[in-house]
Amino acid sequence: MNLNEIDIHKELKKYFGFSQFKGLQEQVIKSLLNKQNTFVIMPTGGGKSLCYQLPALIQEGTAIVVSPLIALMKNQVDAIRSLSSENGVAHVLNSSLTKTEIAQVKKDITSGLTKLLYVAPESLTKEEYVAFLQTVPISFVAIDEAHCISEWGHDFRPEYRNLKHIIKQLGDVPIIGLTATATPKVQEDILKNLDMTDATTFKASFNRPNLYYEVRTKTKNIESDIIRFIKQHKGKSGIIYCLSRKKVEAIAEVLQVNGISAVPYHAGLDAKTRAKHQDMFLMEDVDVVVATIAFGMGIDKPDVRFVIHHDIPKSLESYYQETGRAGRDGGEGHCLAYYSYKDVEKLEKFMSGKPVAEQEIGFALLQEVVAYAETSMSRRRFLLHYFGEEFDDVNGEGADMDDNIRNPKTKVEAIDQVVKL
Ligand code: ADP
Ligand code: MG
Repeated sequence: MNLNEIDIHKELKKYFGFSQFKGLQEQVIKSLLNKQNTFVIMPTGGGKSLCYQLPALIQEGTAIVVSPLIALMKNQVDAIRSLSSENGVAHVLNSSLTKTEIAQVKKDITSGLTKLLYVAPESLTKEEYVAFLQTVPISFVAIDEAHCISEWGHDFRPEYRNLKHIIKQLGDVPIIGLTATATPKVQEDILKNLDMTDATTFKASFNRPNLYYEVRTKTKNIESDIIRFIKQHKGKSGIIYCLSRKKVEAIAEVLQVNGISAVPYHAGLDAKTRAKHQDMFLMEDVDVVVATIAFGMGIDKPDVRFVIHHDIPKSLESYYQETGRAGRDGGEGHCLAYYSYKDVEKLEKFMSGKPVAEQEIGFALLQEVVAYAETSMSRRRFLLHYFGEEFDDVNGEGADMDDNIRNPKTKVEAIDQVVKL
């Protein structure tokens, strides 16, 4: 097939039923179809999957998709299969497959039926699989959640470091890396580690104009402060993040006795309770989930109206991801963080048991959070600058949506606050 003759809008409609590309999708897809190494940075929900799914479906050969989570891969494979009449159009290759299943996967790839092959990075290192993949046409390799390759990302996976070496054995195939992690340091790491500094980079804006950012000094009255805040947002959905399971339990209880419908969520609860509490939140049987960071991955509730950080997050990256769960529908989303330097020291102590290199990264990331909490400039500008994005804090979209802009501190107040800490 001559790629110049492909009408990708028609293919988009045919396979996905969408009449328009979202954001930079079209440019990304054209770059990949032109066999260029391509790097995509888009916030969560930006539509990254389609950037490799569509090119895979309309090209000869099989695209290899590397993804860190088995559950995520299974979801995607199911979604792709539902678009096609052939089950073999997408497969997962992992250690849980039987010999018969592996034989079927290989057969479907060899016959040209399989357009997308999802693999976990550790499976891809298997000699046997590499040897097989060398014998079949590969359209391209997609590395989803590419930040896993960087120690500066929030989810470092050492297996991702071997990918470059393996991809090279597959011959001269284009690579597309995708991530929602926007920090320049992580981006640089990704390009270097995948040996694709020549890649064409597509970066979407990370600005969330409907989110209001606020930081309050953490005092011993924090619990009544939170209760007051929630009562001012009566009946609205919200998430409260705490550092420890114990704190999660304690806050959930305090809220309950104050007549607020709230449930706890953390990894110490059994799977059934966790699922129940998550469903209650999604079905609006409760207003508030008090949670550790275990809560939120893959949660897509459009009308979360506030995200409160009872304790400061470990990096601005995490803060952006966690607050990003507010206002997905474009409506109000209030992001409130409580800050005290004592919490910073607590987190630092937490990290002191870790290897030195990890500690250094942890401290550096934490210092950025401190700077964000203490700044008197536009918080949105600060956050976006951290992601390498210039934001015009006068005319930019959402420019007035933060406490520092709405109620600028006088110099005396600002100094006063520093002394108090
Ligand atoms: P990401 O991986 O960037 O977080 P996803 O690939 O999961 O995002 O896509 C997020 C949502 O956007 C999905 O529900 C997907 O179906 C939808 N989507 C993607 N592309 C389009 C499009 N062109 N038109 C409408 N919806 C789209
Ligand atoms: Mg994704």
